[in-house]
Amino acid sequence: MAAVAVEVFPLTCAVQHYAWGKIGLDSEVARLTLSDDPTTVIEQDKPYAELWMGAHPKGDAVICDNRISQKTLGAWIAEHPDCLGSKVKGAFQGQLPFLFKVLSVNISLSIQAHPNKELAAQLHAQYPDRYPDKSHKPEMAIALTPFEGLCGFRPVEEIIGFLKNVPEFHAVIGNEAAETLGNSTGDPRQVSAALKKCFTRMMNCEKKTFVDQLNMLVKRVLEEAAAGKDTTGSNGQLLLRLHSQFPGDVGCFVIYFLNLVQLQPGEAMFLGANEPHAYLYGDCIECMACSDNTVRAGLTPKFIDVQTLCEMLSYVPAPASSKIFPSIRDSSDPFVFLYDPPVSDFTVVRIEVPSSVKRYTVSSIDSASILLVIRGEATGTAAPSEVNIRRGSVLFIAANKAVDLCISSVDGMLLFRACCIL
Ligand SMILES: [Zn+2]
Repeated sequence: MAAVAVEVFPLTCAVQHYAWGKIGLDSEVARLTLSDDPTTVIEQDKPYAELWMGAHPKGDAVICDNRISQKTLGAWIAEHPDCLGSKVKGAFQGQLPFLFKVLSVNISLSIQAHPNKELAAQLHAQYPDRYPDKSHKPEMAIALTPFEGLCGFRPVEEIIGFLKNVPEFHAVIGNEAAETLGNSTGDPRQVSAALKKCFTRMMNCEKKTFVDQLNMLVKRVLEEAAAGKDTTGSNGQLLLRLHSQFPGDVGCFVIYFLNLVQLQPGEAMFLGANEPHAYLYGDCIECMACSDNTVRAGLTPKFIDVQTLCEMLSYVPAPASSKIFPSIRDSSDPFVFLYDPPVSDFTVVRIEVPSSVKRYTVSSIDSASILLVIRGEATGTAAPSEVNIRRGSVLFIAANKAVDLCISSVDGMLLFRACCIL
């Protein structure tokens, strides 16, 4: 009789030490890594920015099961493509379609947008060194701690308000574009065209002009704050924070165009194609399609492709509250909440098992999935595997395998699972 194949196993995941990450044990990435493996040495002065849970070639997860000969998840999936699930295997050419991450953000990431599939293919063909693949890169962030980001264009009234209150911002846009926005009414196409004009003017503003205006603005806000005046009309606190991180960067003016979105733990934002965004601060779960295509707009020393960016953005004004992406309780399992974005590449599932429940089954689905433990301890069984999982553990689960949990923690469990539901 053939042995039953091992299809559920723990992973050791790659940590990325990008400079913007939270430092040492301030970082949820570092704390999760240490909890998963108490022998890990966390360096107190080093940034721990991202944990990559997937098979991306720049951070392929290592398999922790000595019955398996392949060392990494990518190598194992290449040998066992049926583990992806019947539909996923065909739709994504035998590759895991998503990359699952934990992010710990200390310093703002660059303001950016990701192309749709057509534009990604075109950019990759034209500039393969800048745009390394032909895929789109929709992303979703789910807060683990209070989390801040910029996302999407503000309602036009708010932008017009800043043009009035912040003469330095007005100067960077110029009179003509600012008037066009002020006069655009009702017709959404007219509003979008006016927004595009204003944003493009700012991004193409001569460097000396915007640096001078930014310095004047910062000086003014500092003086107002010192005199005890309210600086909210100039978005003063955020301006000073970003300017201290990126002095002289045109991205500091972007706060007058984009919504400031504040997520509470469990709340999410979805970043579809062409949506301008930047993560500012906090810890989150992130899931994305497997791609590296990013077009940047500021708050970065990296290359900014101004023309591509200004052409591609979705100039649709909407309030910050509309940027919070709802999770939906699963009708068949009261402990399961789905974050199901309007793209096929991934779905994220939050599983909250209450303390009264000691046995719980992570259901089998027709997709490979990756499970991360944020809280709780259990023994997981999926014959022939039996694995002890705790906070920080990451499990790979092949398609159509269920995992029975025998829970030993007293405060229940909080799990996040990434999968691809087609
Ligand atoms: Zn992004």
